[in-house]
Amino acid sequence: MSDIRANLESIQEQIVQATEKSGRAPDSVQLLAVSKTYPPEIIRQAFDAGQVHFGENRVQEALDKIPQLPAEIEWHLIGHLQKNKVRKVLPVCAWIHSVDSLKLAEGINRIAGELNLEAKVYLQVNISHDEAKFGFSPSEIRQSLDQLVAMEHLHIEGLMTIPEFSDDVEKTRPHFAALRELRDELKTNSELPLPGLSMGMSHDFTVAIEEGATIVRVGSAIFGKR
Ligand SMILES: *Cc1c(COP(=O)(O)O)cnc(C)c1O
Repeated sequence: MSDIRANLESIQEQIVQATEKSGRAPDSVQLLAVSKTYPPEIIRQAFDAGQVHFGENRVQEALDKIPQLPAEIEWHLIGHLQKNKVRKVLPVCAWIHSVDSLKLAEGINRIAGELNLEAKVYLQVNISHDEAKFGFSPSEIRQSLDQLVAMEHLHIEGLMTIPEFSDDVEKTRPHFAALRELRDELKTNSELPLPGLSMGMSHDFTVAIEEGATIVRVGSAIFGKR
């Protein structure tokens, strides 16, 4: 068995255990395989092992690799998106996890309308108030929610965050919990179901699941160190 197949199985097992520990349904969490920096032949191995959803963080790299891989793969953009690249990304990435400003959301909505498609998006929240990170602050998202909800070519899947890195996952846990609480608050104040929470990476995805993640973005634990 290839390492990649074994790694995927191990992660799926850990996902199930984390859902059991927190009293959630095992199928309530989706695994997104983060394939950034890995070449198409490696990504192909994960696809052959049954993985369908893949995430890339750089637009140009994604645009180069996507045509070389099976059309059945579902692509998610997880890195910062510049407005001038939206038109190229929307036809190939059905999901965008990194909608980090009202201006970008407006740009995506307008272009999705022109291309006659619906963009499935997560609103990126800078939950740990990290100066170096993109994202709405919680107060910005509260202020912008009505405008975001009115964008008819956006399907808002939920919220996404990349908390400040810590070796100690227990230090990250409160940030995951804060994103869930913000989601719950926004949900009561809008018409949106807003179910999704995109949070958790290789070193902390089980804790993210305990705090409510619905999709975990895992790279190095599948593909090895970059
Ligand atoms: C690289 C990346 C990940 C995955 O990180 P790993 O530590 O390799 O699992 C998740 N989310 C984002 C936004 C990333 O850029």
